[in-house]
Amino acid sequence: MLTRSTDKIIVANVPVSPDHYIGGQRISSEKTFTVSSPVDESILGEVAAGGAEEVDAAVNAALKAHPKWAALGPKGRAVYLRRFADIIESRVEELAAVETMSNGSLLESGRKRVMKRAAYNIRFFAEWAENLKGKTWESNGTQYSVQYQPSGVAALITPWNAPLMLTTWKVGPALAAGNTVVVKPPEWAPFTCSLLADCAEEAGLPAGVLNIVQGIGEEAGAALTEHPGISRISFTGSVETGRIIGKVAADRIVPASMELGGKSPLVVFADSDFEAAVRTAIGQYDNAGQVCLAGTRILVEQSIADRFLEAMTEAAGRIVLGDPRKEETDVGPLITREHMNKVEGFVERAKEQGARLVYGGNVSEQLGGLYFEPTLFTDVPEHAEILKEEVFGPVLTFQTFSIEEEAIQMANNTEYGLAATIFTGNEDRAKRVGSAITAGTVWINTFFARDLSAPFGGSKKSGIGREGGDWSFDFFCDIVTLAHKTDSFSS
Ligand code: NAD
Repeated sequence: MLTRSTDKIIVANVPVSPDHYIGGQRISSEKTFTVSSPVDESILGEVAAGGAEEVDAAVNAALKAHPKWAALGPKGRAVYLRRFADIIESRVEELAAVETMSNGSLLESGRKRVMKRAAYNIRFFAEWAENLKGKTWESNGTQYSVQYQPSGVAALITPWNAPLMLTTWKVGPALAAGNTVVVKPPEWAPFTCSLLADCAEEAGLPAGVLNIVQGIGEEAGAALTEHPGISRISFTGSVETGRIIGKVAADRIVPASMELGGKSPLVVFADSDFEAAVRTAIGQYDNAGQVCLAGTRILVEQSIADRFLEAMTEAAGRIVLGDPRKEETDVGPLITREHMNKVEGFVERAKEQGARLVYGGNVSEQLGGLYFEPTLFTDVPEHAEILKEEVFGPVLTFQTFSIEEEAIQMANNTEYGLAATIFTGNEDRAKRVGSAITAGTVWINTFFARDLSAPFGGSKKSGIGREGGDWSFDFFCDIVTLAHKTDSFSS
């Protein structure tokens, strides 16, 4: 039996509902799970652990709300979505504070960038949908026009490293496309998604348009992907989970988009802007390396390698590891003890397999807790696991190359293909190497530049499909070709 709830818990001085948001109501579950903060490992609260029953209610609420929401058309929906974005923006401070306590990301970056981007994700796709026009053309006496139709209810499943930003990156286009949604937030950091439901309510989104089912992946997440009422699955998370969801989607022939992990290269040529390249290499420790796009394999041209390694270790020594709420902090904690054990395991095995540790490698002696030092390995044997598997922690490897072909071969020597970064002062080389590396996004002399109209996604094991701009609508919509005989209408 589903029970309504008015419970709130306090996270970072902000009242947050620990319950689901289904059909415009807060609903609790008998079962709960405990969420703690990576900042100080304190318990933040008990959160409703949904399962098949809650998922069924949420999907039914979304199915019920769908016809009216779809009928509003892009312009009608944009009125709601702009208001939704404005409300998210007006609550940036609270959202940032809650996100920092939930996942340990830097408060300053949350306030200045990430939470604003969450609002922008909604506003951008609302506007994109208003201007979205399918192609029209004529061929052999028949006129063709392509239409984007809402597909129904989208299941949106997201990870903990940037929960609100990654959730709105899916909610924005899915709702703008005329779908209604059921979100399954990450169980390690579920609170900002709960606040997102408050923002939706305040914006007057009709009941059932946005639903949130909190819970454990294998329970709530699995029940959601298996529900027959779902017509799209958009997933961001690990390869392991992607594989499980992919099988469910294949069984049910439901389109699934997968944004998965990475082991991205950062390639530095001797002719590059040295300081900028070092800064970018060190920037890969941001968010304690818990960034899917992080360029964790640093590949440097032999002639500048010694100088580069020295500059990197010096810069690593200047990184301020600490409480993510403090302005002076550069890098905060790992998300949970379970995750830290995993990171430590990678570091230990790298050492056992012959890699040389040149910086870090341990929990900070001074800070303890989940604060893991920025870590750098060199002389890594080619077979070492640390070159192959995603650590999702502050652990980088340093390798050298002699010629361009070798750099390309090393950059591509991975089963992943999410992103790559190249530093060079030579434009021809930039284009040559950039096109020879297999990755969803290749940055040249920059890192993390993101325009929402560009396609985003992973090649190889890093994902299936692209989202962003029209690509989001290609995924979230049913695309229909209308073909009529030219000049066949009398009126
Ligand atoms: P995860 O795969 O463990 O979990 C992601 C989400 O899936 C969570 O909400 C979880 O509850 C849910 N889930 C788990 N098992 C499920 C199941 N059987 N059925 C349905 N849902 C299930 O990933 P994580 O540890 O939360 O996130 C880290 C991973 O995410 C890393 O690999 C990282 O690279 C990746 N990531 C990718 C991108 C990208 O854009 N490509 C962005 C951020 C993170």
